[in-house]
Amino acid sequence: MNIRIGQGSDLHRLADGLPLVIGNCSIPHTKGCIAHSDGDVLIHALIDALLGAFALGDIGSHFPDSNSQYKNISSTELLKEVLSLPEFKTSSIINIDSTIHLEQPKLRPFIDQIRSNLAELMNCQINQISVKAKTSEGVGAVGKGEAIACDCIVLLQK
Ligand code: MG
Repeated sequence: MNIRIGQGSDLHRLADGLPLVIGNCSIPHTKGCIAHSDGDVLIHALIDALLGAFALGDIGSHFPDSNSQYKNISSTELLKEVLSLPEFKTSSIINIDSTIHLEQPKLRPFIDQIRSNLAELMNCQINQISVKAKTSEGVGAVGKGEAIACDCIVLLQK
């Protein structure tokens, strides 16, 4: 059995009045991501983890932000494009683990919806998807509410 692991991370600045989308879930909040796409940090980190598992580069090399085609695009469209690559046709997810770094709001009420969204997008079971959230204790850009970040690891078998 050929096992592959991939790791990804992402960060976006937050600004007043923008939508906050995490794992294809709209989170009610006063701030959202400054981004070329919808700024979904979880899906961006997942895409980098998937690409990393097969040494296929990163999200920026596949979807350059200089390309207006990707302006305001839903990150789910980018994920679907990545999953259409031959490497993912012949492999399956073992599990995905992720951590979202965000000071506010508390994400616990949305975690199961986010897991369900990812399970549907990845064509796997919800118990294969872990989504965790933590604050930065008021320290740094995340702690001051200036940014949201995400780390993600994926394990696949070929
Ligand atoms: Mg991003």
